[in-house]
Amino acid sequence: MSRKTKLIVTLGPATQEPEIIGRLIDGGVNVFRLNMSHAKHEWAMEMTKLVRTEAEKRGTYTAVLFDLTGPSIRTGDLEQAYDLKEGDRVEFRSADSKPSIPLSTTVNYPGLMADVKAGNTLVVDNGALLMRIETVAEDRIICDVRTPGSMGSRRHINLPGVRLNLPALTEKDHKDLALAVECGADYIAGSFVRDAEHVMELRAAMEALEGEAQIVAKIEDQEAVRHIDAIIRVADVIMIARGDLGIEVDFEDLPILQRRIVKRCHELGTRVIVATQLLESMITNPTPTRAEVTDVMNAAYEEADSLMLSGETSIGRYPERCVEAIDRIASRIERSGGHGFGQNVILRDERQKIARAAVTLADSLADARLVVLTRRGVLANQIALMRPRTAGFYAFTPKELVCRQLALTRGIRAFRMSFASNIEETVHRLTTQLRELDLVRPGTPIVIVSDILSDHFAANSILLHHA
Ligand code: PGA
Ligand code: MN
Repeated sequence: MSRKTKLIVTLGPATQEPEIIGRLIDGGVNVFRLNMSHAKHEWAMEMTKLVRTEAEKRGTYTAVLFDLTGPSIRTGDLEQAYDLKEGDRVEFRSADSKPSIPLSTTVNYPGLMADVKAGNTLVVDNGALLMRIETVAEDRIICDVRTPGSMGSRRHINLPGVRLNLPALTEKDHKDLALAVECGADYIAGSFVRDAEHVMELRAAMEALEGEAQIVAKIEDQEAVRHIDAIIRVADVIMIARGDLGIEVDFEDLPILQRRIVKRCHELGTRVIVATQLLESMITNPTPTRAEVTDVMNAAYEEADSLMLSGETSIGRYPERCVEAIDRIASRIERSGGHGFGQNVILRDERQKIARAAVTLADSLADARLVVLTRRGVLANQIALMRPRTAGFYAFTPKELVCRQLALTRGIRAFRMSFASNIEETVHRLTTQLRELDLVRPGTPIVIVSDILSDHFAANSILLHHA
């Protein structure tokens, strides 16, 4: 697998059998995502085990990402869906109040009435229905329906531009977080993160449970966009969650925001995922639309670390074809070059300057490989963010968890290897491993970056060795 752009695939009813999970790994999936908005605990636990087993059979480090629901607003239960027409009036009320008009439902967030104003737009079901808030009372709001459609039970509500006072983590999130830690999740994503404090709260809650996962911050609304720099600085990974973000901002702003966030992540040294609707039509169709091909190509061209599929693989008819499509489109654009945001990384410390020098060296040598010796993966990620163009970029680390936590990092392939007490022996081991896998030939230049030379001597170093 020579593709540099990594792939995250959401598991669901369409992809819950061991055979298909195995085939998806063979097809190039790097990370499996469990969407806790839908996943039952027992199921999530079973899926984690399946992924671990299938990955182990193949000797790959396929990771698992638990995606927490976060503070999202939903409509209540209805006996029957409402068939809404333009101009209808719909009421959203607190759970303990009685309907005042015929078309009425509850909402799961009682603070809603205090956060909104008459004139605000309310969007139901991921953009399927648009409404305008007409009146706001203490325990209810009444909306004017602007576009017709059906409104069922527990539909997602967005309020573009409104600052909501929801807690960062709900009770459900805390339960799901505990499960994620119990399952040994490699990554945990927080939804509707609005500022750096939310990310820190999630990390603190995870560490209190002694979890070792990396934290993914999902950027889904204008509030998060306003605080983007602070969020990028504290998160391990940023996800541009275009499903919700595309509703919360004017849609013509979405591609500009995507590009700006990807660029900023490069500058500040944080990995970035582009998510949602990359191949939406393939939920029912065997091939992507021209627009989807272009969208996938664009995200790979921006050199995002990972792309993420949701409904395409959780409930879609063609999950394997989707993986193949991503693989083909991303590999193709990688051959013709990328945006080059890696040049913009702001070098803050000596380590990053060493990393830059190593990337420059490896890219200047014909057919060189770049190898990083890394204990926690930090140096590996810093080098990856500089987007080396070299044909082979490998991390060697003693920890299996670190291998999986590099699964969504662009361009890198991680191997588990214990370090010897002296550098000659370590270099010999890694060279032997690369030769056995046919990843180098005798004489291939290998640029090795390390901050450990021996048990007794630490120094940031770049070694040029020939296989
Ligand atoms: P979701 O997040 O699928 O959990 O809503 C992704 C998005 O909003 O794009
Ligand atoms: Mn979302």
